Amino acid sequence: AKAAGRNAFCLFSPALQDVIDTRSSLESALRGGLNRAEFQLYYQPQFSLDHGLLGAEALLRWTPEHHPAVSPAVFIPVAEETGLILRLGQWVLHTACEQLVRWAQQPQTRDLKIAINVSARQFHRPDFAARVRSALEATGANPARLQLELTESVVLEKVGEVVERMQQIRQLGVTFSLDDFGTGFSSLSYLKQLPLDQIKIDQSFVRDLISSGNDAAIVRAIIAIGRSLGLQVIAEGVETQDQMVYLTSMDCRAFQGYLLGRPVPMRDWQRAWHDWQHQ
Ligand code: C2E
Ligand code: CA
Ligand code: CA
Ligand code: CA
Repeated sequence: AKAAGRNAFCLFSPALQDVIDTRSSLESALRGGLNRAEFQLYYQPQFSLDHGLLGAEALLRWTPEHHPAVSPAVFIPVAEETGLILRLGQWVLHTACEQLVRWAQQPQTRDLKIAINVSARQFHRPDFAARVRSALEATGANPARLQLELTESVVLEKVGEVVERMQQIRQLGVTFSLDDFGTGFSSLSYLKQLPLDQIKIDQSFVRDLISSGNDAAIVRAIIAIGRSLGLQVIAEGVETQDQMVYLTSMDCRAFQGYLLGRPVPMRDWQRAWHDWQHQ
């Protein structure tokens, strides 16, 4: 109920609960959803103090017929377990690239990036780099506008192989962000080996930034680490002006969160941001 109020979708509606009582039925519901085109990308703006609107993170939404939208927090883990994440992830990659091509046709949106979330299973497929390349080629999207968000779980193992794969993809011009930074257990020695462009301060640290001295200290440290490695540092989950002011005072210069804009479907994005000018 809390999730419903905040994000305008439910974890489970009672009716959906019946449909997806077991994992295998959730799996088949997801499979059917892919075939019936029940998935959609929402886009949440990202800003920097230096460059204004940077672009958007693409966030997956599933709206089964006759049901309220289902949170990715519910279906992504199941999609990962069942391997359906590969088809879903491929769909996200293509759909984001197609959107980049539409943006490229307008001067106001030409320079904007789209960041997509890549799951561990998707990234570790041997042909992942080839799939990124063929999505870019098939759509004609500018690789420099595509950013891939990886979590620490992706990069936790076999760091040598991960670095090699990231480098292959970076050679295409694609950039990388390390998502949910600070929540995993990757060591700093890993971090310096990864060819990253951005780290995202996890929203759990931003949430209690003002009230928790510990969280403030962690955020300050993350910003310093990012800085010293030459990475862009973006804070996610920024909901209040106070948080943004505090983050700015700690020299964080990029932001994403409800304060700046909620995730919206592209038709609403156009309405909200079409005439948005760089500050
Ligand atoms: P994430 O990548 O950490 O995405 C950020 C989540 O925080 C999103 O939840 C977003 O809607 C929410 N959010 C944004 N601003 C605020 C804010 O100011 N306050 C609060 N409380 N929340 C905010 P969402 O869209 O429900 O996605 C949840 C997670 O599902 C994502 O976390 C990501 O891990 C996963 N996910 C979403 N789309 C995809 C996808 O296409 N592929 C994969 N593999 N995972 C995805
Ligand atoms: Ca993300
Ligand atoms: Ca995140
Ligand atoms: Ca997260």
